[in-house]
Amino acid sequence: MYIFKKREDILSYLAKVPSDKSIGFVPTMGDLHEGHLSLINRSIAENDINICSIFVNPTQFNQKNDFDNYPQVLEKDVISLKDLDLDAIFAPSVDDIYPNGKELKEPYPIGKLEHHIEGEKRPGHFQGVCQVVDQLLKIVNPSKLYLGEKDYQQVAVLQRLIEITKMKTEVVPCPIIREKHGLAMSSRNSRLSKDAFETAGNIYKELKIIRENQNSSDFSELQRVAVESLKNLGFETEYILLVNAKTFEILENFNSEIPMRLLVATWLDGVRLIDNISV
Ligand code: AMP
Repeated sequence: MYIFKKREDILSYLAKVPSDKSIGFVPTMGDLHEGHLSLINRSIAENDINICSIFVNPTQFNQKNDFDNYPQVLEKDVISLKDLDLDAIFAPSVDDIYPNGKELKEPYPIGKLEHHIEGEKRPGHFQGVCQVVDQLLKIVNPSKLYLGEKDYQQVAVLQRLIEITKMKTEVVPCPIIREKHGLAMSSRNSRLSKDAFETAGNIYKELKIIRENQNSSDFSELQRVAVESLKNLGFETEYILLVNAKTFEILENFNSEIPMRLLVATWLDGVRLIDNISV
């Protein structure tokens, strides 16, 4: 397994890959857990050459202290990956990804998803995500891009990026990997105290309660009860929303004729946690 830290080094490696070989790509910010590994294993199962990038992208953080506190543990990550049949890790520096500065010259025309839900709560976040993934895709030029449904809106935004940039890459959405008690795995979970980590399992529990009761109650009532239950456990909830799973249109109530998704963002112990389930 190669570890490339410079754009020119991975480019010269990729230049030698025969054009009939498929390339699977998994972009990450490191501090790898089972969620990331599930994407990498799926990529390995489906492609000839497999690349994982590890890069904590400063331009997608809308709070500086979130970026400053983000774990950067490349050595530990290399150990997690060493037994996998991964061909290369790309772990560039900020200067290597943004040689002309981090300023975005022109915003990506993402459309209505940009300022919607997560985009509204985290101004500039999706522009930053597009900025880094655009750079990475230009370097790796993968056949398939593996993305976790943990960041459900991000999958749709990056699908849009690929349309905008007219790349041939296929997006492969991958299911959320959870802790035993249901909490969606995330690099940010390590910032939770032991008690808060246990409590955080209730996010998934509340989402499932809403889903299970969709035939007996209105969404607004189930939403109110879930926010209240989480509040009693110490959560401060930004939103629990029912949306059209394809268009992200916010739904007032359940509608079995369209694909639906429940999305949540909530704070516990100073950590912002997001999750979602299909309905
Ligand atoms: P990150 O390192 O947080 O930027 O995540 C890198 C990729 O891993 C993204 O596509 C995430 O959606 C995905 N990912 C993160 N956590 C999980 C999880 N618990 N289950 C599945 N995919 C995940």
